[in-house]
Amino acid sequence: MKKPAPQRQKPSKRGIATHSPSKNNSSQPTRKSKTTAETTSQIISPLKVITRDFTGINIENIIHLSSDIIVSLGKDHKIQTINKAGCQALGYSQKKIIGENWFERFVTPSLRKSALKSLQKLFSGEEDSIGYIVIPIINKKEEEHLIEWEGLVLKDTEGSNKGILLSGRDITQQILVEKELIQSEWDMALAQKIAQLGSWVYDIEIDELWWSDEVYRIFGLPKNEFNASYQAFLNTVHPEDREFVDSTNKNILKNNKTYSMDHRIVLPDGSIRTVQQECKTFFNQQGKPQKLRGIVQDITERKQAEEKLKTYQAQLLHAEKLSSIGKLFASIAHEINNPLFGIRNVLERTKMCVPLKEADECFIDMAISETDRIAKLTRRLNNFFSPTRENKEPVQINRVLGEVVLLAQKELSDRNICLKTYYSDVLPEVSAFPDQIKQVALNLFQNAMEALPETGGEISLSTHHQDSHLYFTVKDNGIGMTEEIRKDIFEPFFTTNSKAEGTGLGLWVTQSIVQSHGGIVEVDSQYGKGTSFTVSLPIS
Ligand code: ADP
Ligand code: MG
Repeated sequence: MKKPAPQRQKPSKRGIATHSPSKNNSSQPTRKSKTTAETTSQIISPLKVITRDFTGINIENIIHLSSDIIVSLGKDHKIQTINKAGCQALGYSQKKIIGENWFERFVTPSLRKSALKSLQKLFSGEEDSIGYIVIPIINKKEEEHLIEWEGLVLKDTEGSNKGILLSGRDITQQILVEKELIQSEWDMALAQKIAQLGSWVYDIEIDELWWSDEVYRIFGLPKNEFNASYQAFLNTVHPEDREFVDSTNKNILKNNKTYSMDHRIVLPDGSIRTVQQECKTFFNQQGKPQKLRGIVQDITERKQAEEKLKTYQAQLLHAEKLSSIGKLFASIAHEINNPLFGIRNVLERTKMCVPLKEADECFIDMAISETDRIAKLTRRLNNFFSPTRENKEPVQINRVLGEVVLLAQKELSDRNICLKTYYSDVLPEVSAFPDQIKQVALNLFQNAMEALPETGGEISLSTHHQDSHLYFTVKDNGIGMTEEIRKDIFEPFFTTNSKAEGTGLGLWVTQSIVQSHGGIVEVDSQYGKGTSFTVSLPIS
């Protein structure tokens, strides 16, 4: 995996620590001992300088210049020399220190044994040097300081072992900073996890992408197995969104400095999630884009909730529209009916009171029957939009269909229509406006009867449910529809009903009602063979 463009310098790591102080043991870092080459080239180690260049001369003056603690111990562990920095660290004058047993006097008591053990190989001459071990010391004020030590064996001109020389650097503050850094990294990771928010950095020049742990979690990818390059990221983007995401990323480099976009991603298990990305470009001193930094958040649930709300609002709007059309129709029907009633009265009176020729009486009868037809039509229109009760109720579809059949009973038997019912015994209820559902069933049943010949024919009603939907079907073996007709049947005022009773609104209203309940109407028809309409409604 490509490594992140480093955010900040990681704290150095040290090792071979004899010390694991109780206050600091949670984050005890480790560092490999440096090679001699590294040490001489990077750190001016007083020990190296002394032993390499000044062996055999009086080193006192040189070690006093060092800001590191430099102390030499005899084989008896007593302090033979200590520099100014050492005295300062311990808080005593040189006089008070020289001759004291180093371990007993200045090493943290609980760690004396292990400190001795770590340096034992130097004292015994088994090893010539030792590096980067941490031994804490206690100063005059009883404060503990963490010191990182390097050590060498001191030999006289004959080469026999005289004791050891230690050089130490106070790393108490550094450890504290490291600890705080680790803590803040933890805090950041935790915050990202809680917010389901990840961060990323893309180094444009070297095409390296770094993801925080949370980004891997959002994308469902294992951190160690995923090669986080820009192309690898693009591959996780939903194919339909890929071009948009790619061009947005490329545009930000050319045109502006920030963007915010939502897009879908496909997880390795095939599931699709939606994420929101916020991104900012960072430029180098020459004004050239250098890095993109971004945050990414999983907004799948929020998006789903928004979608649901939108659908609900659309349904509500639809229902409102339907109800206002209904009110309009009701008032038109009322306005027409009143004068119509007057006209009919006048015609009746004329017929009764005025002696008319036979032909004229026939005209009057025709006029009366036409007014009756208009009255019937307005009544039908009004019925489509008859006001419904305010609240949805649990509705049993089998019962609604039963009521519709009851209403049509007379016509069914007059026309010798065969009715078959296939109702499910275990049908759940749907939450719906009962009058509207009845209207739907009535319209479909009415159409089925109209599709049949004058006498005979068959209508079947069936219900069932599957998963979260309930289905009811009205099927006839009547005239059926051509493809031409079928494509227009849900249009308002579309009718092929040659008898003037057809309004062409039945299916339009049916579909409107079903959709406002979150359902759909499906039609299957074959010209000359018959038609079936299936309504599906969500159960909950
Ligand atoms: P209307 O019944 O007033 O004509 P609808 O909206 O109820 O209006 O129906 C529109 C048209 O759809 C009908 O005129 C008819 O052509 C066609 N149609 C509807 N139901 C059937 C059916 N069961 N069989 C054949 N055609 C149908
Ligand atoms: Mg109809």
